[in-house]
Amino acid sequence: MQQQLESLPPLTRLTEDEELFRASVFEFADREIRPLIREMDEHGKIPRHLIDKLFDLGVMGIEIGEAFGGAGATFFHSVLAVEAISRVDPSIGVLVDVQNTLVVNALNRWGSEAVKQRYLNKLAHGTVGAYALSEAGSGSDAFALTTRAVEQGDEFVLNGRKLWITNGNEADVFIAFATVNPDAGYRGITAFIVERSFAGFTVGKKEDKLGIRASSTCELLFEDCRVPRANVLGEVGKGYKVAIETLNEGRIGIGAQMIGLAQGALDYTIKYTKERKQFGKPIADFQAVQFQIARAATELEAARLMVYNASRLRDAGQPFLKEAAMCKLFSSEVAERTSSLAVNLYGGYGFVKDYPVEKLFRDAKIGQIYEGTSNLQLATIAKQILG
Ligand SMILES: Cc1cc2nc3c(=O)[nH]c(=O)nc-3n(C[C@H](O)[C@H](O)[C@H](O)COP(=O)(O)OP(=O)(O)OC[C@H]3O[C@@H](n4cnc5c(N)ncnc54)[C@H](O)[C@@H]3O)c2cc1C
Repeated sequence: MQQQLESLPPLTRLTEDEELFRASVFEFADREIRPLIREMDEHGKIPRHLIDKLFDLGVMGIEIGEAFGGAGATFFHSVLAVEAISRVDPSIGVLVDVQNTLVVNALNRWGSEAVKQRYLNKLAHGTVGAYALSEAGSGSDAFALTTRAVEQGDEFVLNGRKLWITNGNEADVFIAFATVNPDAGYRGITAFIVERSFAGFTVGKKEDKLGIRASSTCELLFEDCRVPRANVLGEVGKGYKVAIETLNEGRIGIGAQMIGLAQGALDYTIKYTKERKQFGKPIADFQAVQFQIARAATELEAARLMVYNASRLRDAGQPFLKEAAMCKLFSSEVAERTSSLAVNLYGGYGFVKDYPVEKLFRDAKIGQIYEGTSNLQLATIAKQILG
């Protein structure tokens, strides 16, 4: 019994390899990303040289097998990378998150050997991916999508528009969902791999956003876009499975983004409150301030345990649906509260762009919206526990 217990590591204890990986990603983010945060936020753009460095670091193909040039690591490594990067800049965190937990994940799981050969190699070597499900009229009700795919010989012809697509400006490979039969409801939905260069495909307007401004969020247009049949991901009419199963996992990545963000806000808060003096002493000496920081740190610890647990369950092949929904719901609330506290404790300096915390406050909001809003997470949790 004792031996059994000893073989169960505490959730936050990392293996040596995981520890080194997280430390090296954070060190990279601190050195290469931190100096660019303000400029990227203002211009709403991630410089290509930074993306190239992310590829060199190996964080754009974490779960891609070594045979295809990837790191051959685990989903948990993706979570660690997204957390470490988001601690510095959640905009870069989501770029890495979508690449790994949605695009690579879907191709790993559903791609044929030929698809893996063609696309995983590229995604490990400089090609950014995007995941296109949402449309103007279908967000939470994702399977009400109207983008149409019509079979013509050895191709499908796609027509329609996608909205809100992360990495739209940087990506060359898009996993796009369309229906082959609108009358069949969700059973018509099919996943396609679309390349930016395909005729009839264009990336449209980029959104001007509240937060994660450096991350591009774009409209995609399909106008008689011809996609080879070989680029169907999974089976025709089974795209809903691809979407559901990938997003169930992807939301753990958003949990990781949110705990990284909250840690970043807490780091700044601890440093600032020790330096800022009022009434003749550092504001961190006031018990009221200490208690607020202690509460935030406690909430973050709980959120991190939830994210790590959901991720470890996924890697162990255990059910994780409820845990994934809970970790995303809770982490996004913790990120909002922690970044809000950071603004409060910076005082007036928290409200201006010369200091870093107002950006994290803006960035936190997205955690409650994408990859299933908080209400949708609550619906998933309720279904799991109430039946
Ligand atoms: C920055 C950003 C990046 C994004 N990236 C991507 C991406 O890469 N790929 C992609 O496919 N999509 C992406 N999205 C889209 C995102 O997933 C959707 O915005 C989200 O799913 C919500 O859909 P909606 O905006 O249509 O809101 P709606 O679905 O219209 O929801 C509006 C409100 O109604 C509530 N609501 C809706 N239905 C119910 C219900 N049944 N019960 C209770 N409340 C309900 C919601 O909780 C929400 O509060 C992104 C969005 C943003 C803003």
